Amino acid sequence: MTRSPVWHPFTQHALEPAMKKVVATEGAYLIDDDGNRILDAISSWWVITHGHRHPTIMNAIRTATEYYDQIIFAEYTHAAAEDLARGLIEVSPAALEHVFYSDSGSTAVEVALKMALGFFHNTGLHRDRIVVMEHGYHGDTIGAMSVGERGVFNAAYEPLLFGVDRIPFPAAGAQQNTLDAFDLACRSGRVAALLFEPLVLGAGGMKMFEPSLLGELSKIAQSHGVLLIADEVMTGWGRTGTLFACEQAGICPDILCTSKGLTGGALPLAATLCTREIFDAHLSTDRRKTFFHSSSYTANPIACAAAVANLKIWSHEPVQASIDRLVALQGRGLSRFAQDPRFRNVRQSGTIAALDMAAPTDGYLADVGPRLRAFFRERQLLVRPLGNVIYLMPPYCVSEAEIDRLYDAIDEAASILIGNPA
Ligand SMILES: *Cc1c(COP(=O)(O)O)cnc(C)c1O
Repeated sequence: MTRSPVWHPFTQHALEPAMKKVVATEGAYLIDDDGNRILDAISSWWVITHGHRHPTIMNAIRTATEYYDQIIFAEYTHAAAEDLARGLIEVSPAALEHVFYSDSGSTAVEVALKMALGFFHNTGLHRDRIVVMEHGYHGDTIGAMSVGERGVFNAAYEPLLFGVDRIPFPAAGAQQNTLDAFDLACRSGRVAALLFEPLVLGAGGMKMFEPSLLGELSKIAQSHGVLLIADEVMTGWGRTGTLFACEQAGICPDILCTSKGLTGGALPLAATLCTREIFDAHLSTDRRKTFFHSSSYTANPIACAAAVANLKIWSHEPVQASIDRLVALQGRGLSRFAQDPRFRNVRQSGTIAALDMAAPTDGYLADVGPRLRAFFRERQLLVRPLGNVIYLMPPYCVSEAEIDRLYDAIDEAASILIGNPA
């Protein structure tokens, strides 16, 4: 077999089976070149919200291509970017008034960090520390890795990563430790911002915490003049049951990052939203106070048109009803395993369900991970456990029968890999 020149992400090519070639997508399915229909239970790495190839989004893309390709976004603007920014301001927490575009979750986070540092630099305050949460994930660029959890993923790049202050994950019963650690960090007077994934720490193992904790963190941040940066790259667009996870905590971050579901998952696009204060701190006749950031494909008009169509779906179609239905289905599916000794930490946040398989070794490199993946793959199910953490994050169009199939498969996987419940 000739070797493909393609180098795939997060893939150990020496161990992975040959890639399956996808020739089409439809609703909750990927269709491969043998005609197999593979149920996409992880929304193609958390991006597809409504379902693959939603007609409203595909039509918007088609229409946009009649008018636009890429347009320089300095000196010039376009209707898709303007409409999208207004729409985003309308659906996001109230104090967010400005929108900066980029093209991935990682860049949305990089932009957020630069906005926070720029805010303090331009207002003459010496604050340059970032506080992050243990087990956080914010992307794979150097800055985004620096603010994420350190481990096997980034050991080789450690010399390039900058230092941050870390507070413990707010595990049930130990939330006060998190609050105390944050307060203590803020007392240095050097902290610019707290960066966090609201309610669910995704890549860190689908770790979930209570909304009320965010209210407490927000109070501490306010009392120290520290900015809050919500990384809603994964949690946004309904995943946790509401459009943004921050809504459930009743907090308004100073900066909010969104990407993945922004275009319904159809095209790469990201936005970093911020308050008027942060924008105004960069508003000056002194050019040195400019926000010095751009990427070539900033505000790509076709991607923006897809995102405008996504907003239209949210306002014109019963999206919340689909989400509520999925929340109930996931709850019912998980309840099967609530008392099952083969699983631990059976948990749910909105449409996201997760459970840890009681395997001899935990963590991302747990042996059980690749075996589980192979098991699901043989059954035409796209499920990619994070080590021994099995999670389901399907698009909102998934049916009851499909959800049942997934939970039946999880049950069977446990029977095969670790035996039947006592
Ligand atoms: C996926 C993810 C990112 C990175 O997004 P990319 O588009 O892959 O760069 C950042 N933050 C969170 C919370 C994510 O889940």
